Amino acid sequence: MKCPYCNSEMKDGYIQSARDTIFSIEPHKVQFWPNKSIGEFTVPSQSRLTTTCAAYHCPRCKKIILDYAKKAK
Ligand SMILES: [Zn+2]
Repeated sequence: MKCPYCNSEMKDGYIQSARDTIFSIEPHKVQFWPNKSIGEFTVPSQSRLTTTCAAYHCPRCKKIILDYAKKAK
């Protein structure tokens, strides 16, 4: 995948967490449950206990693109 910021080839990899990962509209400080009424959600993963999602990293721009629809190996 080409970086949409600098057009360099991005490194394939994964975003992993030992717990669920959420997309949030505002940073959470205490509770890390998504507020679905405002569009927050738990990033889909292949395990109910951990997060593993395909991701692409651009070291030059320090950007990561997360693809939570793609299955990990
Ligand atoms: Zn880049």
